[in-house]
Amino acid sequence: MLLRLLWLLALPLFAQNDWDDPFPPHRIADNLYYVGSKGLSTYLVTSPSGHILINASFERTVPIIRGNVEKLGFKLSDVKILLSSHAHDDHVGGLALLKELTGAQVYVMEGDDKVVSSGGKGQYKYTDLWKPCKVDRVLKDGDVVELGGMKLFAHLTPGHTRGNTTWTLPVKDQGKTLNAVIIGSPNVNPGFELVNNNAYPEMAADYARTFRVLKSLDCDIFLGAHGLYYGMDEKFKKLKPGGPNPFIDPTGYREYVAEREQFYLYTLEQQRKQ
Ligand SMILES: [Zn+2]
Repeated sequence: MLLRLLWLLALPLFAQNDWDDPFPPHRIADNLYYVGSKGLSTYLVTSPSGHILINASFERTVPIIRGNVEKLGFKLSDVKILLSSHAHDDHVGGLALLKELTGAQVYVMEGDDKVVSSGGKGQYKYTDLWKPCKVDRVLKDGDVVELGGMKLFAHLTPGHTRGNTTWTLPVKDQGKTLNAVIIGSPNVNPGFELVNNNAYPEMAADYARTFRVLKSLDCDIFLGAHGLYYGMDEKFKKLKPGGPNPFIDPTGYREYVAEREQFYLYTLEQQRKQ
């Protein structure tokens, strides 16, 4: 158990190696596509009234996203709404550039909105800055984002950041309606203080809330802010025309959430002992 936890602690350090690598864009379900880099997930939700992108990644990732959207036969200029998982540079650093390129509206969860609009000021622990991006709508827990018949539900899952957002959306796949869950981040990063944290005193309680929320969600299609959360690479290799959809993985979702909760509880216990 301890070895596994140590390995998971080290994961974010190794995982960054593929953040700038391209990855083939692919369909996850009807109207839902992966258009991110190998290590940074960006999702495209299409509709007859325009499209939605979830996660801008870094400014330097935007050309990968743009190329992927175009490879799928869509136009970046048809993107009307930009959403995100949470206000860390690897998910929102490119928002300002994407807004400039598309003219889209930017919606951000309360708690992360000022971090996005200030270009990274007021983050807990991190000091990386990025290009400030105007926030057109500040979201609250339970808000629904609608475009051309598509509906996305914003769930506040705080801790990793104060406005960390998990998105759920009903999608069609081979004629069935399925619930897709895009986890923001359930991760307690190295150096995060769950105990005696003056800068973010409610952090431990926020994570507890997040795991309650994640365990309450109905998940058919398991997705997340990084492909690593849900084994994107391996699932992508299993994609076959007419075959079963490898992204349908309710068991993988439950196991991932349970394992991340165990890690949170273990870290909390260790920090309380110090
Ligand atoms: Zn993060």
